Amino acid sequence: MTVATGVGPDPVDAVVDVVSRLIRFDTSNTGDLDTTKGEAECARWIAAQLEDVGYQVEYLESGAPGRGNVFARLAGADSSRGALLIHGHLDVVPAEAADWSVHPFSGAVEDGYVWGRGAVDMKDMVGMMIVVARQFRRAGIVPPRDLVFAFLADEENGGRYGSHWLVDNRPDLFDGVTEAVGEVGGFSLTVPRREGGERRLYLIETAEKGLQWMRLTARGRAGHGSMVHDHNAVTALAEAVARLGRHRFPLVPTDTVMQFLTAIGEETGHSFDADSPDLEGAIEKLGPIARIVKATLRDTANPTMLKAGYKANVVPAIAEAMVDCRVLPGRQAAFEAEIDELIGPDVTREWVTDLPSYETSFDGDLVDAMNSALLAVDPDARTVPYMLSGGTDAKAFARLGIRCFGFTPLRLPPELDFSALFHGVDERVPVDALRFGADVMSRFLTHC
Ligand SMILES: [Zn+2]
Repeated sequence: MTVATGVGPDPVDAVVDVVSRLIRFDTSNTGDLDTTKGEAECARWIAAQLEDVGYQVEYLESGAPGRGNVFARLAGADSSRGALLIHGHLDVVPAEAADWSVHPFSGAVEDGYVWGRGAVDMKDMVGMMIVVARQFRRAGIVPPRDLVFAFLADEENGGRYGSHWLVDNRPDLFDGVTEAVGEVGGFSLTVPRREGGERRLYLIETAEKGLQWMRLTARGRAGHGSMVHDHNAVTALAEAVARLGRHRFPLVPTDTVMQFLTAIGEETGHSFDADSPDLEGAIEKLGPIARIVKATLRDTANPTMLKAGYKANVVPAIAEAMVDCRVLPGRQAAFEAEIDELIGPDVTREWVTDLPSYETSFDGDLVDAMNSALLAVDPDARTVPYMLSGGTDAKAFARLGIRCFGFTPLRLPPELDFSALFHGVDERVPVDALRFGADVMSRFLTHC
């Protein structure tokens, strides 16, 4: 059997080189087909790694040339059990090299980190998938159920030329799949313990807010800028945008967020009661992760773009704004009613992007398997569910009725501001965390 360059048999030893290699493929997704390079080269490299150990691989492009995806199945001991999908996206957000300490597509391994765009979002997981998939074939490990490894395009622009296209056009790729794991969860958060010392919690993603981009349109009467205008579209739109931007949606304690806060409370001894007057102040004390947690307490609607007019002395007939809305599970109808109240009757709204929220319970055999795999390598750890304020490819798979979790295991140094690395300058992943992740992933898939 031939051994592909750089990918040895032990997943823990191989993972750092593989992640570094993956980062060297520039798979920047600009959101524009004309300037996006695509995932094809990276996807074909992955296909070769899997074919090398005997996988039957399907390479396919999702709706546009160069948007490469790779699928590989591994038969399990009991194919009558639902299959498990393990998914990772190959695209990354662009990076401005001048801002970085190392070149963002160097994949440099320095100071205990692998550096580069995609190091945590999410070529870390893609690397773990490759080394574990290869290990299973080479060592003849038969997982308890069928595994489907999916390497995907276009997550960073909402999966239109990736997961959503595949779900719409090739649902057969997901035949028999009942559950899925992907980003953004499985990473550690170290909290101070009430009785002294610290505890590492591993955050498993069980819920995502909805990701909905809304266009607001105001129509008025066009005319000369020197006249009196009662129906000025710019004024009407600006008022609606200002009301929305200043509005605070109500605090809504969802099951996932309350389970998360209860677990943190048990460990730290601090109170995170939903009706405490300073819940958000208490959450601030958790450090940088508070950015995500606070955003999962309530809906948000942030105005992001404005468009109106073409000449200083012409009142335009139309004015438009874009608003980035993130809606909690169970809140859609109430959220829309609140929006309508705020924008008033003179402004209309439409969804430009409409990817609903998602929530599943933190229980069952798969959760037990994640827990066991993590505890086998980090015995004093504790797993807790959490909600992601952003969105992932899980939204596409949930449309097929697949139960989705974020599980990319990483044991992180307590002081690392992990959430800031996503799409950030000097994105990097600790070498030790990657090796830990490959070990946990291998154990997890052996017993999933
Ligand atoms: Zn990602």
